[in-house]
Amino acid sequence: MDIDKVDVFISGGGISGMVAAIAFEQLGCSVICADPVPPAQSRETASADLRTTAFLQPSKEFLESLSLWDRLEDHAMPLEVMRIADAGGPENPPKIRVTKDFKSSDISDRPFGWNVPNWLTRRELLAAIELKPNANFLSGVRTERVLTRDKEARVFLSNGQTLAATLVIGADGRNSLVRKDAKINVRTKSFGQKAISFAVTHPNPHYNVSTEIHRKGGPFTLVPLPHHQGNPSSAVIWMENSEEAVRLMTLGTAEFEEEMTSRSCSVLGQLKLATKRSIWPMIAQYAKRLNSKRIALVAEAAHVVPPIGAQGLNMSLKDIKTLMDLAEKTHDVGAFDILERYHKMRINDIRLRVNGINLLNQASLSNNQMIRDIRSYGINMFHRSIPIRKGLMKLGLGLSA
Ligand SMILES: Cc1cc2nc3c(=O)[nH]c(=O)nc-3n(C[C@H](O)[C@H](O)[C@H](O)COP(=O)(O)OP(=O)(O)OC[C@H]3O[C@@H](n4cnc5c(N)ncnc54)[C@H](O)[C@@H]3O)c2cc1C
Repeated sequence: MDIDKVDVFISGGGISGMVAAIAFEQLGCSVICADPVPPAQSRETASADLRTTAFLQPSKEFLESLSLWDRLEDHAMPLEVMRIADAGGPENPPKIRVTKDFKSSDISDRPFGWNVPNWLTRRELLAAIELKPNANFLSGVRTERVLTRDKEARVFLSNGQTLAATLVIGADGRNSLVRKDAKINVRTKSFGQKAISFAVTHPNPHYNVSTEIHRKGGPFTLVPLPHHQGNPSSAVIWMENSEEAVRLMTLGTAEFEEEMTSRSCSVLGQLKLATKRSIWPMIAQYAKRLNSKRIALVAEAAHVVPPIGAQGLNMSLKDIKTLMDLAEKTHDVGAFDILERYHKMRINDIRLRVNGINLLNQASLSNNQMIRDIRSYGINMFHRSIPIRKGLMKLGLGLSA
């Protein structure tokens, strides 16, 4: 059996896996990254991930340090205000009863974040990997099995290749094979809730404001995008209980547009679909350990959160940066003590954020009128106290409060 040697093997080439590939190549490691789903070259491609990611300030800095931001900048829309609105009153169609703005200028001279479509980020990351002499992206290839020993890991791939790697990074999503083969358990909470994700155009400009409207079933969030075909455009994440989300997915375009405009309380005028819709089950989950012999888990293999406060991928980039900073100081990037330190440095922040977002999500999906009234009062209270408001914004950005 031929065995190819590599310093770092990355299972999963979503955004996180690809960024990890570039980060470790930059450290001087040889890297192979494999993913069964080839990155889409346009948003019309059937497999294109139509979600968008708001890269928060620390993530942008990390991508700059890897010389990746230049590739994304022209497609990125700055987010300067986070508007939280409550439409949880008994009226139908819903009406906004409280609106509070969280302004990035209150804590920083830069925007909170920059929103970029996922398919486009993945396309640009692939182009960057292709220019790296020591990184190889295996498109259409799945990791089938991982066996670990003290000195190396053996990786068996669906193309018949076997690799010997010093370090295996599990970036293969919420059902990670690497995690299963390492026998690492997870703690999971299901919400009976789904998120529908798509892009829209609208007549009113968004003025770089991201608007999160709470009613029941979860928030309806509009996140600014660059103009689409000459019209203002936003990405939407619409969270609902599972049954209602499935019903919404079956509606024709005109009916869906009517319902989403009503759910948005028409804050940007009549919404028009600009992409197809995709649907995502909502869970909160974290791996009980982030490491095993020769293995590190990152991104959704390590933690999954509902899309509230743009945390998921930003936490993932923090995982990769932490691992990279530790690996920079050693000759053996998969050494036991490095991976132990990685676990210790990340696990508390991960638990805090997963549990915090879990709570916010519970509050936002309530059907109960009294809880919805308390939530509306809470938004007012948090906003009124300047130290709490600034502290929450810094916590959300991952900056020290
Ligand atoms: C609707 C929605 C909106 C979101 N918006 C935001 C946001 O604005 N900001 C933010 O920070 N986060 C956001 N998130 C979270 C963010 O999308 C995730 O954190 C991010 O996609 C996680 O990236 P990942 O690389 O771990 O997972 P994925 O993108 O799922 O990548 C995992 C990859 O692993 C591959 N894979 C699976 N099995 C194997 C195998 N056996 N071998 C090899 N490869 C394999 C898959 O094909 C996939 O490409 C959102 C999530 C949702 C659901």
